[in-house]
Amino acid sequence: MQDCLFCKIVRGEILSTKVYEDNEVYAFLDIDPQAPFHTIIIPKQHISSAAEIDSTNSQVISKVFEAAAKIAKQENLENGFRIVNNCGADGGQTVGHIHFHLLARRNLAWPPG
Ligand code: AMP
Ligand code: ZN
Repeated sequence: MQDCLFCKIVRGEILSTKVYEDNEVYAFLDIDPQAPFHTIIIPKQHISSAAEIDSTNSQVISKVFEAAAKIAKQENLENGFRIVNNCGADGGQTVGHIHFHLLARRNLAWPPG
């Protein structure tokens, strides 16, 4: 997608701090961290939101979660972490490329606001 912010990050047209990359997944530090460790994990394939997941694209979501577990090991997040997906306006989604926040290194409140 030409004008998608996160597609531009995948293409290297916008700089990011890489945390993890493989053929299907890219992870980078959030520019406005909500925890001491806050990375955004995305499929390189443009999918606009969780509402657009179906049987033709769901396999890349499993790759996102495989990447999350690798990142947790890589970053020594042995105390745990939280993965968040915001979907749509009421879900608080501000970037129209599906992404998963991985937050860690502080005690995270539950339920969230
Ligand atoms: P959401 O509100 O769930 O759509 O999350 C979008 C996230 O992208 C926010 O946490 C932003 O801080 C983050 N973000 C926006 N632009 C950038 C950028 N250029 N580099 C890194 N993170 C970004
Ligand atoms: Zn995109």
